[in-house]
Amino acid sequence: MKRSVINHLTRLFMLSFGFVIVGQAPGLYAQTIRFYCVAPSATITSNFGAGSGTTTDMPTSYRSIEITAANQAVFNRIAPPQIRRTYRELQTGAAMRQLVNRVLQISGGRVNIDYFLIDDRTGITPDPNGYMGMFTTDDIDGTRGVWPSAWVWNTGGGRYQGQTGLGELASVYIQRHEAGGWLAWETTVVHETNHTQFVGEKTKWPSITITYGGDGSHWESELLGGRALAFEEGLGTFFGLTRNPAGAREVIRFLNRTNERYLLESWSVLAPDLYNVPHTETRTTPPTPPPTPGGEYAIRRYKWLDIPRYYLLFSESTSLAFHQLFWQHSNNDPNNALDMVFRSSQAMWENRLRRGLGGAVHRLAVQLETYASTPEGRQKESAGTLTSSMFPFALLDILNHFAMSQEDFQREYRADIGGTETRSQAYSEYFNHRDAVRNRVQRYLQQTNINITNAVSEAHRYFQQPSTILRAGSG
Ligand SMILES: [Zn+2]
Repeated sequence: MKRSVINHLTRLFMLSFGFVIVGQAPGLYAQTIRFYCVAPSATITSNFGAGSGTTTDMPTSYRSIEITAANQAVFNRIAPPQIRRTYRELQTGAAMRQLVNRVLQISGGRVNIDYFLIDDRTGITPDPNGYMGMFTTDDIDGTRGVWPSAWVWNTGGGRYQGQTGLGELASVYIQRHEAGGWLAWETTVVHETNHTQFVGEKTKWPSITITYGGDGSHWESELLGGRALAFEEGLGTFFGLTRNPAGAREVIRFLNRTNERYLLESWSVLAPDLYNVPHTETRTTPPTPPPTPGGEYAIRRYKWLDIPRYYLLFSESTSLAFHQLFWQHSNNDPNNALDMVFRSSQAMWENRLRRGLGGAVHRLAVQLETYASTPEGRQKESAGTLTSSMFPFALLDILNHFAMSQEDFQREYRADIGGTETRSQAYSEYFNHRDAVRNRVQRYLQQTNINITNAVSEAHRYFQQPSTILRAGSG
């Protein structure tokens, strides 16, 4: 089991198939959500009946059967406790399902989803070829079980099929090791569901392993080999943490850490900028040894302030923190802010090239400028709770300790929005305020004393001053 240096381990190995289809007409689509009971074959056949279910794509000696109204009593009788509860909390009306329903609208309802609920308590054994079925497996407290993962492919006609595997062993493990207990597991379920909404290419590299490094998986504090997937990973965890206050507090604790908290693996993308700044390096045995023995494998560890330029945008923790802090501050109204994040995500689901923090800054800034012109926005302005569209810029700047030049920052922004979208007014105006904001928050961003909450609160106060409000139509 690969351990994270921060509590949110949410690890994923993800497969992705198919290509991006652009230009789908907007509209309402009905989604199919199916649930499958996966268990040792003997358990399935003795409880659901001889020959029931299928072994297709299942690990050796496992079968899967769709859970229906007719057989769900059988499932509830035989399923282990965490899997049974997961099923219950994904049914219509349950709180987690309500959040899942919103996540499933990121694609406008174009992705059907299958949840595989797996009783893996007796462990999974590879077949003679090493195949372990469609799922991602790992050693979980001494037993090989299913580690949560998700994948999605194009089924034609503008529709997609997503699947995710959720096992009992991982549920128990995550509840024991991550902040929030059961809600940490719900965060994982929401995170995996979010992956099914971001279709097409997940990364610009031909193999996901290049993005994730030599171990084929990721830590939340890892600097990945691509920004788009780092963005998606953090966004999915954010959605889950909107229901997990203990997990959200853990994010703030991570951001305030002054030790070496970011990791870079070898066997990923070459990043000479990162080899030439202070870090420590650990050499270990390669996690996936090459066919010929030998080879070296290193993990480099960095303090926050030592990471130069835009490289923090390659960590999913930056995407997570950005969305969480936006949600916690913007317009003093988390529901309003969450609506904005969902709308921002809806512009990104289909096209990898739109997925990034530059694009998120753009889409949130544009929404804030539009909102400032609405009657509700005017009311908030009178009450002193309206937030300027420059705040998302300041937020990313703080999380990146102002390491990007204006040129870098604006390039990140433009790269994610494509040529035809109109830029926010804040795209230029923010840089007239940047030095003032930096001066105000600098004391909270010292290597021996980091207080992200104070820094963000200070910047947010600045951008609630009426003189900083930018609104659509007044450009
Ligand atoms: Zn993930």
